[in-house]
Amino acid sequence: MWSTPYTRPDKPCTPARVGGLGAKKGIGSAALPLKIFYTDIFPIPLPEKHAFPGDKYRLLRSRITSDLGKHPVDMQVPAPAAENAILRTHDAAYVRRLFSGELTEKEIRRVGLPWSPEMVKRTRYSVGGTIAACCAALSDGVAANLGGGTHHAFHDHGQGFCWLNDAVIAARAMQDNDLAARILIVDCDVHQGNGTAVLARHDPTLFTFSIHGKNNFPYRKEKSDLDIELPNGTGDDAYLDALAKGLAASTRRFKADLAIYLAGADPYRKDRFGRLALSKAGLARRDRLVLHHLQRAGISTAVTLAGGYAPDVQDIVDIHYQTIETVLALYPLFKRR
Ligand SMILES: [Zn+2]
Repeated sequence: MWSTPYTRPDKPCTPARVGGLGAKKGIGSAALPLKIFYTDIFPIPLPEKHAFPGDKYRLLRSRITSDLGKHPVDMQVPAPAAENAILRTHDAAYVRRLFSGELTEKEIRRVGLPWSPEMVKRTRYSVGGTIAACCAALSDGVAANLGGGTHHAFHDHGQGFCWLNDAVIAARAMQDNDLAARILIVDCDVHQGNGTAVLARHDPTLFTFSIHGKNNFPYRKEKSDLDIELPNGTGDDAYLDALAKGLAASTRRFKADLAIYLAGADPYRKDRFGRLALSKAGLARRDRLVLHHLQRAGISTAVTLAGGYAPDVQDIVDIHYQTIETVLALYPLFKRR
């Protein structure tokens, strides 16, 4: 039914953009605003006091539109992920049952979100946001999805608030359309990207780097191409040291055309689940470190939000907002390459 292109028909993601940033000189004009995709207009129905901070998406977008209004940002609703793109990563029977509401109680409990047709719709748009951000990044150097980062979704089941794995679906959509051949996934959510690790295992065209809390969910970790596990209470400096080493190792071991960055807000010290005890300033330094490293390495980058569970939703919004500010600050450097 949704046989849509990967982004809006009036802004197609064309094969002329193959080859990473270097190949696209001259395509992006200096006046092009940063593209930011959002999907909060399709609400997630949640029971009251649910642990998932459904409001953060709307609050973040309104903060961006009011505070960044003077800056060159182009806010867009993406197309929903096409079924054939989802099926390149997920099991057909699982996707059919997810779409039609035939998942078992146990499968739904494992995800921890109530199933509804609206939830499915939002999920497809959220994955579409990551696909569109990848397209835009390959054209403009960097772009963001105000959603995505659903890294606990596996081939035939969801887990931990994740139904579909947007990063792997988007990576394969880029490959299928000859837009990028080799994709690096940099996962800085406090939880290990276990679904991503398994989906990308045995695939030499995808490289997964996850830096996460050793004692955080998932308790049974999977094997990414590079994992850095950190102890409780790591704090800013030790975290940033480890991250710098992980980034250097990732780009030394793997030459990427495109990176997908999961900028989770849950390494924050007040997070209900995260145990790494980073400050907001430390998280802003994290964003700069990741984005600067990728920019200097000449890798187009799509940014996604991933998790964040601080009791005060404004803290979560602050952390995601600083990520977008950092993207915006580095956008001219990404574009110039
Ligand atoms: Zn998380």
